[in-house]
Amino acid sequence: MKKIIFLLTIFLYTITFAESPKPPKNIIIMIGDGMGISQVSVSVLTNANSAFKKFPITGFSITCSADKLITDSAAGGTALACGVPTKNGAIGVDEMGKSIPSIFELAKQKNLSTGVVVTSEVTNATPAAFLGHTSNRKNYEILAEQFSLLETDIVIGGGKRYFIPESSGGKRKDNVDLLMKLQEKGYIILNDFENLKKSDSRKYYALLENEALKPATLRNYSLSDLTKKALHALSQNENGFVLMVEGSQIDNGGHDNNQELLLNELNDFENAIQTVLDFAETNKETLVLVTGDHETGGAAITAGDINSENIKIDFASKSHTATMVGVFAYGPQCEIFSGINENYHLGRKLLHLIQTRY
Ligand code: MG
Ligand code: ZN
Repeated sequence: MKKIIFLLTIFLYTITFAESPKPPKNIIIMIGDGMGISQVSVSVLTNANSAFKKFPITGFSITCSADKLITDSAAGGTALACGVPTKNGAIGVDEMGKSIPSIFELAKQKNLSTGVVVTSEVTNATPAAFLGHTSNRKNYEILAEQFSLLETDIVIGGGKRYFIPESSGGKRKDNVDLLMKLQEKGYIILNDFENLKKSDSRKYYALLENEALKPATLRNYSLSDLTKKALHALSQNENGFVLMVEGSQIDNGGHDNNQELLLNELNDFENAIQTVLDFAETNKETLVLVTGDHETGGAAITAGDINSENIKIDFASKSHTATMVGVFAYGPQCEIFSGINENYHLGRKLLHLIQTRY
């Protein structure tokens, strides 16, 4: 009897409090591709003002895919974007290959604006999981076509080649000019950062390179600059918005076992996190969730000075690893992301926040 009363109390407590908090107006999901705990530790240990220290809620994410201990970015992205576990290589579909609506698609049903800002090609696995559905992440031409059929407000990144015909120097074998189609739909097409900087449009594709964006140190603009532009446009929707920002190339540093590349990309991503936190702090209705899709490189901090930024990373792998990654949450309802989460539970919680809106 005591047990029943106890369970009933818990149940009543749960339904009372689970329904009362107001969902956030805006959601910003930030994904460090290949950003594990060691990568974050470098920032925390060498930078007194590390953006990662500013999150009231932290936790862990288990990054395994539906069929593998070690995930790829397709399954990892799908878990976060669609809230389902799936097989490696799969984008926006479940284990059976069935399309699952992403948080972007749900957000559109609720009249929110949506946007992605990445430093990879926009057809790459992580952004593709938010914008497309295919069992094979390498179907870049199909993905680009799927993107062009959506109403995503802001798309910033690289990968112009999959939007333009082979005859015009692109990669599209069907010779369809998707940029022209997007223009017909009312999108502004921006080809470089100078034009993006000047643009005040609320609906655009800014494909800044044919392939991925250059590494952070070789660009004259930062991921933070790109994120500011997206926030400016998206925040004009009174209903709110969902934005995904990816530090896409932290992963490259891990794969190449290149400490310098890794830390430069991490720094670029961290500056974007600070920009987002500044926005959320002023806005007060924005949930920020930062995590990695998996760890890359088996990075470990093996030497360094306690009083300087001097640090040495050793790598145990050239690939992804199954080590858990960090979860950092700020803003309305951030508490629900604490503890150890399966990656797709993070996605499911995000989707739930959209579904429970009026
Ligand atoms: Mg990625
Ligand atoms: Zn990778």
